[in-house]
Amino acid sequence: MGKIKDITGQQFGRLVAMEPTDERYDGRVVWLCRCDCGGKSSVCSSSLVKGTTRSCGCLLREASAKKAKDITGQRFGRLVAVEPTSERRNENVVWLCHCECGNRCNVPVTSLINGNTCSCGCLRVDVSKMNMDAHVGRVEGTQLSRLQKKGFGSSSTGVRGVSFRKDTGTYVARITLKRKTVYLGSFPTLEEAAKARVVAETELFDPILEKYGMKREE
Ligand SMILES: [Zn+2]
Ligand SMILES: [Zn+2]
Repeated sequence: MGKIKDITGQQFGRLVAMEPTDERYDGRVVWLCRCDCGGKSSVCSSSLVKGTTRSCGCLLREASAKKAKDITGQRFGRLVAVEPTSERRNENVVWLCHCECGNRCNVPVTSLINGNTCSCGCLRVDVSKMNMDAHVGRVEGTQLSRLQKKGFGSSSTGVRGVSFRKDTGTYVARITLKRKTVYLGSFPTLEEAAKARVVAETELFDPILEKYGMKREE
């Protein structure tokens, strides 16, 4: 066995080769390795050299932990993430969410983070309950051209629908449709309030605009 290439002390990712074992894998020496996390693992020398194995398994564990991102208690529009369910949609963890209206619903984490979903559906229901008013350019009681506008305009914060509350030091997001104002929540930062507003615009305005073959301005 004089042919063993000595890699003692060499680092491969998180692993450091400690000593060769008597084990062979595919004719290659299996090395006992120490991992940065404190773990130990026996890895074939070719996996080390090729870089296919770079930890005792802790890297993978960390990656999957990151995937199951903890958003407990975080607010997304009207929704607050309560707990992850065992359900997965396209490998995304589905979270049980509590909606301001009192409903509960299951939403994939990506939909929450991307802002595709910001209510149990009640925002949309609120809209569909509203009557149609097929006046030229003015339907559902709202000027369509106004819905198309981006959420920036005249407002104390520079973001349409977001106001600053001096007493609480928070940013309050609202959206108005057909002279009805929907409270979207109060947020510690302008960004979060603006995001809630954009999310609500997407959820509320887009279906209406779509119905009339229009699109919101990018
Ligand atoms: Zn490790
Ligand atoms: Zn709801």
